[in-house]
Amino acid sequence: MKVALFGDIHANLEAFETVIADAEAEGCDSYVCLGDVVGYNANPSECLEKVRAMGCPIVKGNHDEDAGGDHSLEMMNPVAAQALTWTREQLTGEQREFLARMRMVRQVEDFTIVHSTLDQPNVWNYVTNKFDAMSNFSYQFTQVCFHGHTHVPRVFTRGARVQEVNPESIAIEDGMKYFINAGSVGQPRDGDWRASYCIYDMDKKVIYFRRLEYDIKTTQQKILDAGLPEALANRLADGR
Ligand code: ZN
Repeated sequence: MKVALFGDIHANLEAFETVIADAEAEGCDSYVCLGDVVGYNANPSECLEKVRAMGCPIVKGNHDEDAGGDHSLEMMNPVAAQALTWTREQLTGEQREFLARMRMVRQVEDFTIVHSTLDQPNVWNYVTNKFDAMSNFSYQFTQVCFHGHTHVPRVFTRGARVQEVNPESIAIEDGMKYFINAGSVGQPRDGDWRASYCIYDMDKKVIYFRRLEYDIKTTQQKILDAGLPEALANRLADGR
């Protein structure tokens, strides 16, 4: 069984379609979504319907929660809030209800998925170092857990101690735990603009990352045409 794990699509249809085509070419027979289907970019409805049509397990991201809810976005960074207000207008009531009802944590096969962290999934903490990862591991009861939220592909392991390891390719070893950030499909923030996701080959017990160029010009043009902040188009090219 080969599972493609992707998240932080953020309404970037070009990046999402590129990722799915690549996962098919890589022989993936199963798909898992790590949340934040909407927000920032210009195709929230299309991306949401594509994920739903795939029928794959999915967990809620903070932008899904914000797009699905009616609460004030005042506390949010203004550019993200502007995009979310626009996103709410693009979605049907039924789509927003679907977002609001998504679960925070799920177990799939023998691994767990969550958008942010397992210790407080509804607080949306960012895991940027091994100390953040330690809190998560205290609540991680499966050997492997996948997440997103920071938009940076990262791998933390817990053996005798917690450490961050090179995410190029991970071999799952007995006695170890793995907390893996698949990076972002639609708005990477590690300085590399290419769409990021990862593949878990459950038979070979390896996890590897994929980075893919996509039609970024079209995505940027759609952002401008929608009247969304220009900064959202610019940051895509910077990978920030
Ligand atoms: Zn996100």
